[in-house]
Amino acid sequence: MIGILRPYLQYESLQDIPVRDLLAKGIRGLLLDLDNTVAPWNDKSLTREVKDWFDRIKAAGIKACIVSNNRLPDRVSAVADVLGILYVYKAAKPRKKAFYLGLETLGLKNSEVAVIGDQLFTDVFGGNRLGLMTILVSPIDEKEFAGTKILRLMERMVGRKARFTRNLHKI
Ligand SMILES: [Mg+2]
Repeated sequence: MIGILRPYLQYESLQDIPVRDLLAKGIRGLLLDLDNTVAPWNDKSLTREVKDWFDRIKAAGIKACIVSNNRLPDRVSAVADVLGILYVYKAAKPRKKAFYLGLETLGLKNSEVAVIGDQLFTDVFGGNRLGLMTILVSPIDEKEFAGTKILRLMERMVGRKARFTRNLHKI
């Protein structure tokens, strides 16, 4: 896989990311993709597991901000409000501006922030461009924006599975 597309860590889902590992890595804030990372595409339902994970994040003092390419402010704010977190919509990831906006919203330094998302070409590529820690998760379900399906084909070409490049437990 091309280096700039390589996530720092990879997990099956958001709720599988251990909060203590984030803290151990000095992470104080998260920039989270919305569609198929936090909630299914165009669906504002949140699972109990996702809500519980956000409760643990908050209890640990880690700030969170959704950075979504979704153009509908109501869609993005509906989820962010339920979780009680910040948000940026119409972000235009992988453009650097999208992540700068997120960093500004969190008020944290690059070294303190991780990007979490389900797409290599928007979330991982964009986060890596700024030198942020990037964490790839598997998409929640198969329903997604038509444009995303093209990116999925490209993801298959570069490969996206089992890329624990800098595993926390590796010696
Ligand atoms: Mg997504």
